[in-house]
Amino acid sequence: MSETVCKRCRGVKALPSAVPGFDTAVSMGCPSCTQVADCPTCEGTGFVFVWGKHGGPVANRCPDCAEVRKRMKQFDEALVPRHFWDAAWSDFERGEAGIRDAALMLRRRIDEGFRPGDAGVVLSGPPGLGKTRLLCRVIRALSLEKGFGVRYVEFAHLLSELRAGFERGVGEGELIGELVAMPVLVIDELGKKAVTEWQAGILDEIISKRYNREVSTFFGTNLHRDRAAATRSGAGGGVAVATLADRIDDRIVSRIDEMARFVRIEGTDQRPKHRRDD
Ligand SMILES: [Zn+2]
Ligand SMILES: [Zn+2]
Repeated sequence: MSETVCKRCRGVKALPSAVPGFDTAVSMGCPSCTQVADCPTCEGTGFVFVWGKHGGPVANRCPDCAEVRKRMKQFDEALVPRHFWDAAWSDFERGEAGIRDAALMLRRRIDEGFRPGDAGVVLSGPPGLGKTRLLCRVIRALSLEKGFGVRYVEFAHLLSELRAGFERGVGEGELIGELVAMPVLVIDELGKKAVTEWQAGILDEIISKRYNREVSTFFGTNLHRDRAAATRSGAGGGVAVATLADRIDDRIVSRIDEMARFVRIEGTDQRPKHRRDD
């Protein structure tokens, strides 16, 4: 007997959505197939009761909705920016060659069984091509569809949070511990601003500690890897432009090379003119 796969969620049983009052995307049970909230097995509680060995009821996770609930939680905790909640693979199909090919490559790698510990990707290219949107689609695939722990951070925002934490007297280990252990970490807008020595130290610590674990890191950046790469592409039309190596230190860039593959995307800004703010 063949089961028909729901066309709306393709069997994932959950979809991303945006809810007023939340800055990040949140998941919902697919309204066309499974209503997690109305699961008939557990009446939507997520738990079923069985008789324990020594008598008395014991709560077990519901066998019919526990898995989808877990994946929904992974997506909610990934903190996908609300603006990109609806990122879809089809967004890139008619795009320019660079972003389209990057999307195809990433989708194929995920379909072929990407796991935390596999090499990540550095999406490098000028602003407005859809790099963040693509990273957000990757996050949806790895969390909501595959069930891995994932976290999105914008680099400058991360630094200001760390700074605020230090000011409250929270130790470095506590602040970055969660990020170091995250199975998949997506660091966006890397090198948007020049970093101080303290900030470079924090970044180095996160990256080098992740390097020694079975985790994967993805990056988004508007910058070229280094001067040679910028020159090859003719960036700046002869005027020197800032590169990742300038902004975040050569040593860190070398370590990133060992954990992620640089993918340079060229193309023109696709955003409406009034939204070009970086
Ligand atoms: Zn469905
Ligand atoms: Zn259930």
